[in-house]
Parts: sequence; C-alpha cells; structure tokens
Amino acid sequence: MIQDLRIKYFGICLPTIDLYEEFSDYRRIDPRVRMRALELGLLIHSFGCQLQVVSIGRSRESNIRIYGYDKKTGHRELPARAIDFSVKGVGLKRIIELKNYHSIFLDDGRYYSLIHHDVGHGDHLHLQVPYNKNINKILWDNVKFKKGGSHGRKRY
Ligand SMILES: [Zn+2]
Repeated sequence: MIQDLRIKYFGICLPTIDLYEEFSDYRRIDPRVRMRALELGLLIHSFGCQLQVVSIGRSRESNIRIYGYDKKTGHRELPARAIDFSVKGVGLKRIIELKNYHSIFLDDGRYYSLIHHDVGHGDHLHLQVPYNKNINKILWDNVKFKKGGSHGRKRY
C-alpha cells in the first residue's frame, strides 16, 4: 500500500504519506511552487531518475534544530512556498541541466529560485517562489529580528 504512494507523479517521489498529503493540499503548499516541482519532475523523469521530496513546510522546532533559530524562509509560511528535494543519485551534470532548463521559469521574478546546496537536509535542491502577501501567511517568530531594524520584513 505504502509502495503505491511512493511515486505518485512523474519524477517526484514522496517518501511518506505525510509528505504526499502535504504536497497534495494547496492550503499547505503554494500551488505556484508545486507547479514548478511537477515541471522539474517531468524533466528529471526524462533523464530516467527522480527527485525525492524531503521537506515542504517547516515547524519552529525543526528550524531551531537545523539553524539554531526560527529562520525566515519560504518553508515557514502557510502555504509553504519552498520545497527541498534530495538529489541523491542524480549527479552534478543533471543537476546543472535541471537548473539551466528551469531558469525559464525563474527569470520572471526576484525571488524565484532553484538552489543546489548542502544545509539542513544535506545535499539538496531548494525550489522557491516569491512571497505573496495575499497567499503566504508568515509563521516564523519575528521578535528576534526587531532589534536589527529589519522587522522581519526582509524576504529572500
Ligand atoms: Zn529549502
């Protein structure tokens, strides 16, 4: 039964029922980032491999565990506007191909991004769409940032 849920979309593996439900619920995942994830999935599927979703929304506790504080990030909004994929088994050449191809979806706004890095969840791709005040409710703890003068408003 669980095996049936593991690969639900071309090129996108959702390893747990929780992640599958989160990915399927537009109230928890911004449809703009899901749409781009599905497009990435089609391309990676054509390479004969897949991206495994490792994180969508994140709790205050998981942020503190990873970064030591409640970080401002697209993962800490509702719906979440960021997805992390494990790139295990994909290879650097294909990751570069994915990034080059996907740039046609990224060049239409300041905060669209597809970043390949190694923080929090190990070697992974971070896909993100811009903050939209009508869609994304901020969940992170702003108190920590007020002293610095940014008032927690800075986006990236
Ligand atoms: Zn991320």
